[in-house]
Amino acid sequence: MVSIDQFDFFEKRVLIRVDYNVPLNEGLEIEDDTRIKASIPSIDKVLDGGGSVVLMSHLGRPKNGYEKKFSLRPVQKHLAELLNRDVEFSEECVGEDVVLKTQQLLPGRILLLENLRFHQGETSGDVSFSEELSKLGDVYINDAFGTSHRAHASTSIITRFFPGSKLFGVLLQGEIDNIESIMHSAKHPFTAILGGAKVAGKVEIIKQLLNKIDNLIVGGGMAFTFIKARGGSVGSSLVDDSLIELAGQLIELADEKSVHLHLPTDSIIADNFSNDATIRSAKIDEIPDGWTGLDIGPETQTIFADVIRSSRSILWNGPMGVFEMSNFEAGTKNIAFAIVDATSNGAFSLVGGGDSVSAINKLGLSEKVSYVSTGGGALLEYIEGKELPGIKAILN
Ligand code: AMP
Repeated sequence: MVSIDQFDFFEKRVLIRVDYNVPLNEGLEIEDDTRIKASIPSIDKVLDGGGSVVLMSHLGRPKNGYEKKFSLRPVQKHLAELLNRDVEFSEECVGEDVVLKTQQLLPGRILLLENLRFHQGETSGDVSFSEELSKLGDVYINDAFGTSHRAHASTSIITRFFPGSKLFGVLLQGEIDNIESIMHSAKHPFTAILGGAKVAGKVEIIKQLLNKIDNLIVGGGMAFTFIKARGGSVGSSLVDDSLIELAGQLIELADEKSVHLHLPTDSIIADNFSNDATIRSAKIDEIPDGWTGLDIGPETQTIFADVIRSSRSILWNGPMGVFEMSNFEAGTKNIAFAIVDATSNGAFSLVGGGDSVSAINKLGLSEKVSYVSTGGGALLEYIEGKELPGIKAILN
């Protein structure tokens, strides 16, 4: 496989799969442009090398054909402003007209295609749709880590039409290097922090991590399934009844592998799921009926922060509470501050997953951790040890 640094892009049309699945508000304005900014290093590489750039992406989950709210038009304008150059737009992402447009694209020019998911062939991985897309470039770059766990037309199937000219983009290569480094050459103590609402989908990841880490911190809604497995009373807090037994087995497995499992010892509980609810703190396993744990409590915050500050490698996925509401954000905030402290003392910290990334962005701390991954599901599957179709397709 050739690296993007060595490839000669001179007078080549370079088709880049980017991840412009950005949040838009009701006025269709971009609320967070992290993903757009993250695509710029690859675009610059191609333009500096004398090539032209054709960008393709999905946005949201359109059902059946064009829907204005899923159009990539707002991204065209925003990207042009960020790059301070023209970005052309094609209403269609396949067909003769757009092939012609790419052939007429002069070196140094950029063309953005309309949302790939307006065609069902994208998510179904249709071969003829992939072939149509492949006509839009002489070289293919995958720079969309966030969708690399999907075997879609533009992320995986398309690569069969680019033997010898398929590459990882700068962003995707950075993701691979950073995740590989923490999973295979982490300095110890290595602490993984998992949070968020659901245990489902994280069991295999925990099993994998238990082979590598020294500390496992579990917070957020997912902690209550573990507390229940230990026989605690959790009131109306989020519990996945179908996973209680498995959570109990994970507690035992952590013990067998000599991994310190840190569960919350106290919680901020509320009498309903709202920022205006009556709140108080309670012991984690003595939450009264009718009350819900919505954040880790002050004692837990101190214990977790101490573990984090003495770690040399840190992996964080998922908030410690319902951080979207100000009364339940303290846990997530203090954990983020502890990660920043550890990082400034030389630890390597990798933060990934939609919610922990928005938390770290909201706090303005994204520059103060070692690496912020753009992947949610893709990051978790990578950690789990699964082969990601978008990555495999480039390597094969
Ligand atoms: P996930 O999709 O599993 O990563 O969960 C992310 C969501 O978990 C966020 O929107 C948080 O508001 C939510 N969350 C975190 N802690 C809790 C909790 N204790 N109870 C309910 N939801 C929570």
